[in-house]
Amino acid sequence: MTRAYLALGSNLGDRLAHLQFAVDALAATDDVRVTAVSRVYETAPVGGPRQDAFLNAVVALTTDLAPDGLLALAQRIEADAHRVRAERWGPRTLDIDILVYDDLESADPVLTLPHPRMWERDFVLAPLRDVAPELVEASRTWEGVRETAVTLTIPWRNDSAPSP
Ligand code: AMP
Repeated sequence: MTRAYLALGSNLGDRLAHLQFAVDALAATDDVRVTAVSRVYETAPVGGPRQDAFLNAVVALTTDLAPDGLLALAQRIEADAHRVRAERWGPRTLDIDILVYDDLESADPVLTLPHPRMWERDFVLAPLRDVAPELVEASRTWEGVRETAVTLTIPWRNDSAPSP
C-alpha cells in the first residue's frame, strides 16, 4: 500500500457537492482507501481569468494503484463529475491533482511528482497541513484562504471489504 495525497478544487455550482463526489468516488474504488479528509477552505482564485472563489480540500489515501493508475482514476472522476453535473444542473467544475505519491519523484509532464506548484499554493498547503502536518511548516500563514464551517465525510464502507 502506498500513501498519496490528492488536492480537490471546485469553483462552479454546488462546490461542496463536487468535492464530496470526488471523496465518494475515491472511497468506492477497489484498491483505494481514503484515510483522512482535510477541512474545507474557501480560496481566492490564483491567476487565470476573473472567476469565482474556490472550495479546496485535500484527501489522504492509501492505494495499491500505480501512479499512472491513480492519475487515470482522478481524471475519470473529474470527467464523471463534469458529465453528471452537465446533465443535471449545467456545467460544473472539479479538479483533482496528485500532490504526493509516497516519496516518488518524477519530472514526466504527464505526471509530475510531487506536484510542481504545490509548495507555493496556499490553497493546497492549508488543507494539506490538516492531513499531513509533517509536510507543511507549522509557522506558515496563508493569504486568500479562509476556513469554512462545512465538512466532507468519508463513507464508512471504504475499505473494499466484502459485503456480508
Ligand atoms: P489541469 O488541467 O491543471 O488539471 O492539468 C491536467 C494535466 O496535468 C494532465 O495532462 C496531467 O497529465 C498533468 N499532470 C502532471 N502532473 C500532475 C499531477 N501531479 N496531478 C495531476 N495532473 C498532473
